Amino acid sequence: MIRPDDETKPFVGRWNSLIRILLVESSVKHVARAAMDYANLYDGTSCHPSNERLARETGYNERTVRKAWAAMRGMGLAERVSHGVAHRRLSDEYQLVIPESWQSLPVLGPSGAKFTCVHCEKAFNPTGNCKVHPDGRVTFDLIPMVFCPEPRQRKGREEPWCATEWDGQRRASGETPWSQLGQERWKVFHLARGEEW
Ligand SMILES: [Zn+2]
Repeated sequence: MIRPDDETKPFVGRWNSLIRILLVESSVKHVARAAMDYANLYDGTSCHPSNERLARETGYNERTVRKAWAAMRGMGLAERVSHGVAHRRLSDEYQLVIPESWQSLPVLGPSGAKFTCVHCEKAFNPTGNCKVHPDGRVTFDLIPMVFCPEPRQRKGREEPWCATEWDGQRRASGETPWSQLGQERWKVFHLARGEEW
């Protein structure tokens, strides 16, 4: 796999690598890949497809496409160069960017392998997600990236979920529970991923 920061490779290859490993909603990944078709292959500049066109091509609605752009801006993956003029049907122009700090985004490891649940140690596929805040900041819920999925609850018996079990054990042993971990949650993320770039 091409490293996203391997500057000997063309931008398009590095971009596609980064989007492939990025743990966010599939809609954001799909729009990011589709946007690359409109950008300069060597530096990610001059990207101005309309949201309406991206919606038609990806199968998402325009609202989802707009949210994907907001997520990309918040993660430092896209910089708006100019605003389109609605009445002239012009689209915003973007530059696609591989941020210096791409390694601090939630990404798969270099082998692209499954993650290991930090409670039961089973291998699982982390569920990507991101949230765009009103100020444009993007945050991630790391729980579905460090614990295996919540079991389906069956009538009559409680199926324990690794996230709650882990938290219970932490509290019982006097260690910091998940809700108070803050940035330390990323240490748990790296543990679940098990490999570094
Ligand atoms: Zn588990």
